[in-house]
Amino acid sequence: MAAEHNEIMTVFKYQNSKAMRDVFGRPFRDLRISVTDRCNFRCTYCMPAEIFGERYEFLPKKDLLSFEEITRVTRILLKLGGMKLRLTGGEPLVRNGVEHLVAVLAELDGASDITMTTNAYLLPKFAQKLKDAGLQRITVSLDSLDDEVFKKMNGRGFGVKSVLAGIESAEQAGFSPIKVNSVAIRGVNDHTIVDTAHYFKERGHIVRFIEYMDVGNLNGWKMDQVITAEEIVEMINRELPLEPVESTYRGEVANRYRYRDGSGEIGVIASVTKPFCGDCTRLRLSPEGELFTCLFGTKGTGIREPLRSGASDDDIETIIRNIWTARTDRYSEERASMTKPRRKVEMYHIGG
Ligand code: SAM
Ligand code: SF4
Ligand code: SF4
Repeated sequence: MAAEHNEIMTVFKYQNSKAMRDVFGRPFRDLRISVTDRCNFRCTYCMPAEIFGERYEFLPKKDLLSFEEITRVTRILLKLGGMKLRLTGGEPLVRNGVEHLVAVLAELDGASDITMTTNAYLLPKFAQKLKDAGLQRITVSLDSLDDEVFKKMNGRGFGVKSVLAGIESAEQAGFSPIKVNSVAIRGVNDHTIVDTAHYFKERGHIVRFIEYMDVGNLNGWKMDQVITAEEIVEMINRELPLEPVESTYRGEVANRYRYRDGSGEIGVIASVTKPFCGDCTRLRLSPEGELFTCLFGTKGTGIREPLRSGASDDDIETIIRNIWTARTDRYSEERASMTKPRRKVEMYHIGG
C-alpha cells in the first residue's frame, strides 16, 4: 500500500515535465556515460583484485562505442530531456583521448552540466586539459586519508598522496568546489570518517559519504557492512556540529548538511537505508553501448548494433523512448522485501 502511494506521488510530482517519462512519471534528466570498463584501481567493493586479475578479459577496443557514437547517442538524448552529463567508468581517465570527448560533448546544445567521476590518480596529467575542454565539475573518489586503509581499499596499494595530488591539480585548473565521494564500510574505514570530513572542511571541498551498496554480484556485500547515513552524520556531528540543508533540486541524491560554524557542507547518500527511486531520473550508457535504466539492472538494451547498421536518429530515438517509457525500476525500494538474489550488472561496467 505504501509503495503504491509513493508511485502515485511520483507521477504527480512530475506531471509538468516535458522530458520523456517512465511508467511512474519520472522524467529522464541525467545521462551517465561509462567510457571504459577498465580501471587502474581494484577497489575491494567494486572490482575485487582476486576476480579482476591479470587474466581478466576486458572489452576489446572494437566493442567500445567510439567517441562519435557516444556523441550521437548523447545528442539524441539531450532532445529527450537529458540535461546533465557525467563521464564515468571504470576509470574514465584510462580511456585514450577522453578530453577530446569532453570537448565535443561540451559543444552540444542542451547540456547544462558536464562532470566526471574519477579516482584522480591520473588527474595531474589531465586536469588542465579537461578544464580547457569544457568539463564543468569534477568528483574525486577517496575513501580514507589513512594510507594503510586506503591502500587496502583500492586493492593496488596506491597511497593517499597520489589522490591528493590529483585533487590539487584539479584545484589549480580551476575546479571548485570539488566533490569527494567516500564509500563507508563497517570494519574497514569507519574510524577514519571524521578525519576525512575534517580534512576537506578545511579545504572547502564537499565530501559525500556513500552507503556501501550491493551493486553487482562480486563484492560479497552484506547488510551489516553498511554504515548508515544516520550513523555517519551522528559521528561527524559529535565533533563537527552539523545542521540539515534543504535540497536545491528534485532528484538530488545526497542529503546535505552544513557545518554550524559556516565552513562548508557534507552530503550523505543513503541509497540503502533511504532509497530515492521515486526521484531517480538517470539513464546509464555502458562502454559497449548498452542502456541501463537502473544501477541494479540485470540486462541493458544494446544500441551499438543499430548505430552500426545504419539506423537513423529517429530509429535510435524510438528505441530509447521505448526503453524509458517502459521503465519500472525501483530496486532500492524493493531490496528489503526481496527473497531471491538477483543477477546484476557490475558497478565498474556502468559507473556510479
Ligand atoms: N573510477 C571512478 C571512481 O572511482 O571515481 C569512476 C567509477 S566508480 C564505479 C564511481 C563511484 O562509484 C565511485 O565514487 C565509487 O566509490 C562508487 N562505488 C563503486 N562501488 C560502490 C559500492 N559497492 N557502493 C557504493 N559506492 C560504490
Ligand atoms: Fe575503479 Fe572506481 Fe571501481 Fe575503484 S570504484 S575499482 S576506482 S571503477
Ligand atoms: Fe534509480 Fe535503480 Fe537506484 Fe532506484 S535503485 S535510485 S531506480 S538506480
